[in-house]
Amino acid sequence: MSELYFRYGAMGCGKTMQLLQVAFNYEERGHKVCVLKPKTDTKNGNKLLTRIGPERPTDFVADKSANLFEIIKSSYPDIACVLVDEAQFLTEKQVDELMDVAVLLDIPVICYGLRLNFRREAGGFEGATRLLQLAHRLEELKTICDCGRKATLNCRFLDGQLVTSGPDILIDDGKTAIEYRALCNHCFSRLKPKNDPK
Ligand SMILES: [Zn+2]
Repeated sequence: MSELYFRYGAMGCGKTMQLLQVAFNYEERGHKVCVLKPKTDTKNGNKLLTRIGPERPTDFVADKSANLFEIIKSSYPDIACVLVDEAQFLTEKQVDELMDVAVLLDIPVICYGLRLNFRREAGGFEGATRLLQLAHRLEELKTICDCGRKATLNCRFLDGQLVTSGPDILIDDGKTAIEYRALCNHCFSRLKPKNDPK
């Protein structure tokens, strides 16, 4: 039986880079893979981009109503692996469908994504929450905070100030500098605003 993997880590830990490497390894050996990502408003159309250069088109971008089990079963019958980027944006149902791909179709599914949103809310990312509940294997991809400790949190900064509230998607109005940084818990606690809801 194949398994469902969730490889999670803060931004900058090389999630997409690792996904591209896994795809390359399969294809180099003559196997096909299916690379997909959930549809979001912000990110790069149907391409996967990495900070250090390599990129690749997805096989498909899934909107929230897409049944991933049916799509993979009918359109990708001869693949060796399913690779999902930005998996935190999957719906709960889609994670369940990917579990069925792994166990009923016997195709390994490897999901890459963030564990927690910038507000650090329980259940903040539906897909990540479900993957943490269900996946056969949870694997942390590590990156480093400015201070040298392990960074686990994805943080939003506005004009250099850490914020822990606000909408999921911020439109850049050109007036406020929007930045995301990976922080360790120590730096987060030191920098968090006094009115942090938690
Ligand atoms: Zn730190």
